[in-house]
Amino acid sequence: MTEPFEKKNAWLKYDEVGKKTVMDFAEGYRKFISDNKTERECAATIIKKAESLGYKNLEEVETIKAGDKLYVNKMGKALALFVIGKEPLKKGMKILGAHIDSPRLDLKQNPLYEDNEFALLDTHYYGGIKKYQWVTLPMAIHGVICKKDGEVINVNFGDKPGDPVVCISDILIHLGADQLQKKGSVVVEGEDLNVTVGSMPLNDSEKEAVKLNVLNILAEMYGLSERDFISCELEVVPAGEARDLGFDKSMILGYGQDDRVCAYASAEAIFDVSDADKTFVCLLVDKEEIGSVGATGMHSRFFEDAVCEVLTKMGDYSELALRKAMSNSYMLSSDVSAGFDPNYPSVFEKKNAAFFGYGSVLNKYTGARGKSGSNDANPEFIARLRKIFDDNNVTFQTAELGKVDAGGGGTIAYIMANYGMNVIDSGVSVLSMHAPWEITSKVDIYEAYLSYKVFLKEF
Ligand code: MN
Ligand code: MN
Repeated sequence: MTEPFEKKNAWLKYDEVGKKTVMDFAEGYRKFISDNKTERECAATIIKKAESLGYKNLEEVETIKAGDKLYVNKMGKALALFVIGKEPLKKGMKILGAHIDSPRLDLKQNPLYEDNEFALLDTHYYGGIKKYQWVTLPMAIHGVICKKDGEVINVNFGDKPGDPVVCISDILIHLGADQLQKKGSVVVEGEDLNVTVGSMPLNDSEKEAVKLNVLNILAEMYGLSERDFISCELEVVPAGEARDLGFDKSMILGYGQDDRVCAYASAEAIFDVSDADKTFVCLLVDKEEIGSVGATGMHSRFFEDAVCEVLTKMGDYSELALRKAMSNSYMLSSDVSAGFDPNYPSVFEKKNAAFFGYGSVLNKYTGARGKSGSNDANPEFIARLRKIFDDNNVTFQTAELGKVDAGGGGTIAYIMANYGMNVIDSGVSVLSMHAPWEITSKVDIYEAYLSYKVFLKEF
């Protein structure tokens, strides 16, 4: 007689010592997402850690051999980490791939204006957001100011101890009768996402004295002139640290967990392994939230170029070797999945939903309207993954992104699958995805990290 499959909550396999390991890992992650709120900040922090572990910049090495650790820094916004394996690269790689961009509000090119003696910054939102969620919250501004002389100034305003914050106002409930009759998608509209940044006029100034005062402050803080805004990349993000969530501290409430939770777990996994059989890769890319476009998104050739350079510096380059290296690879596209939310059960199909506490989530496919646009992973690949996860006591689950036709989404999986490699989405489930503050389960984060490590070591 065959037994029915019974799922078990991953917390239950840990004793007090095990739970402390889970909590400690989550604390490292909590600090990481508190300190790194843009793709640039994530890339810089991870490259710094890689360098401390002996990773070398691929551009700066001349020859490469098995055991070498290398990184590629693409414009400071995307990166690839390599641990070179003993087998020839053309036999394929084991790749973890996550994204480090998250939904936010970007400042427009000409953002600063004065309106009724308020100074405001105009924004254009980045990625899919419910705009009404982004008002009345303390916000910070992170990014870079690039000056004409080539100087690049890093900005972190609102997240340093003692900093003031900025904020987007909303209509008071007392006068909100008309607003509340509107459809959710237009309760707050894109052009309403203007950030309040000042209200004090400069003394002895004739017009736009509040804006002028703000400009003076910015000039003093960053040497910024009004025209410099056109060569800035400034991102308005929720201010403040990520927090432990719940009486039991079992969860994390934080900004940008899609997809920094998988990015962090993937980077920590590759940092923890050595002695690669096949070459290990961790890809952390930008622009996923707007379609993986641009030079730093997954559609860019930067990774293929990097593999080409690695092959060349190993003395093993040919067009065929490059193509074989890509097509013989296996990849976990480490991206988040929708977690079942007891407040909104109607959008989920419970047999195929991801639950907090049940570990890393394998999404065979994503997409929308009949799997459209999705990578549909091969069952042969899933069978091999099941075996190594089960053999190594990694808790994992499988899920779809909500009910059929409830909506949909995508990741970088299909882009890498275009090279002919085996890819599956594999990540952490999230509640309130794309909201300013998203929720994850600490044990799921830990199981994802274990699954990535087991994939590199055992697959
Ligand atoms: Mn994502
Ligand atoms: Mn997303």
